[in-house]
Amino acid sequence: MKRRHGLSTRAVHGDPAARPDWAPVAAPLYQSSTFTNPIGSTAEVRYTRYGNNPNQLTIAKRLALLEGAEAAIFVASGMGAVALAHLAVLRPGDHLLSSEWIYGGVHRLFAQEFVRFGIEVTFVNPLESRTWKRALRKTTRAIFVETPTNPLLRVVDLEPLKILGQSEGLAVIVDATFATPINFRPLEHGADVVIHSATKYLNGHSDVIAGAVAGTESVIEEVRKLMQVWGQALDPMAGWLIERGMKTLAVRVERHNATGLAVAQWCSQQPAFSAVHYPGLPSHPDHATAKRLLSGYGGMLGVELKGGARAAERFLRSLTIAAHAPSLGGVETLVSEPRLTSHASLTPAERAQAGIPDGFLRFSLGLEDADDLIADFAQALAQL
Ligand SMILES: *Cc1c(COP(=O)(O)O)cnc(C)c1O
Repeated sequence: MKRRHGLSTRAVHGDPAARPDWAPVAAPLYQSSTFTNPIGSTAEVRYTRYGNNPNQLTIAKRLALLEGAEAAIFVASGMGAVALAHLAVLRPGDHLLSSEWIYGGVHRLFAQEFVRFGIEVTFVNPLESRTWKRALRKTTRAIFVETPTNPLLRVVDLEPLKILGQSEGLAVIVDATFATPINFRPLEHGADVVIHSATKYLNGHSDVIAGAVAGTESVIEEVRKLMQVWGQALDPMAGWLIERGMKTLAVRVERHNATGLAVAQWCSQQPAFSAVHYPGLPSHPDHATAKRLLSGYGGMLGVELKGGARAAERFLRSLTIAAHAPSLGGVETLVSEPRLTSHASLTPAERAQAGIPDGFLRFSLGLEDADDLIADFAQALAQL
């Protein structure tokens, strides 16, 4: 039997088949909309909107290998990936059961756009599997969850969803953007479809917008057909950059994991923070689940300042390393305030109710030295 390569080797090479002599070690960029085809050929034409440009195909194969999926596909954005993955399995009249702790854009897509296609969506608490069962309808066709969640880093156990999916014939769709296949591979836990915003860790350098879907050949083929007609193809340059980014995915995520734990542990000892949200801390409500399911706890961290929004703003103004910007998963540390970004549409009371009080800061810890990040936090806290 062929020996299975580890995740780092897969991230660097995909499948390192024998290379021909004089081949470029770094993949060329095929910045071409179209390709010549043999006269009289009835094979599918090669055209970049069809998703068969080599820069698109290489990374799709690599992600499939990392997720342990039959197939994968990259599209123009994470939102594009969520939309197409769901349209691939849902039809007018179908019902979708969705976690209520999901990306704001996805919530809008489900609540405002899907109704126009006759697809109904019910939002439920992802940690209470009994509420999933109660919300089931005859027309329910799929379940969607994000794990770990934003910004509380709650970790969802997929086991009850897998059982529900199997008994009711539902597709279990998981957005695992925060985990990456290095820390969590949902298909190994009963998910049918995995989605990533490749804008984040997969590319890892904050210079590309892209999304990806992994699953069975038949689901990915359906996504590919939709991508072609909805015009969601990935630009070749973005694909080339993602390939470059994915080569270092495993080492980057290992470093994010180490820095995340070090900074979270330090933060948990600071009296100026009333709470620290990190699944690697024993104080996190899902620590046991995270320990069981994840290979690493990641680089995302939530902290709550005792002094509320004013203290958070002062702290932010004093930080010298973290850049104040939305998004995550890049080499540089970013910080954002959910009250002004993902949860801006809620009232302060609703945010507090959701466990994200004003004074909450979300960090995407980058690849800087953990000691430097901690020293920067310390000097900023000293200025409060
Ligand atoms: C960013 C993000 C998305 C949307 O991805 P884009 O690439 O910005 O379209 C979806 N889900 C999660 C969890 C995200 O973090």
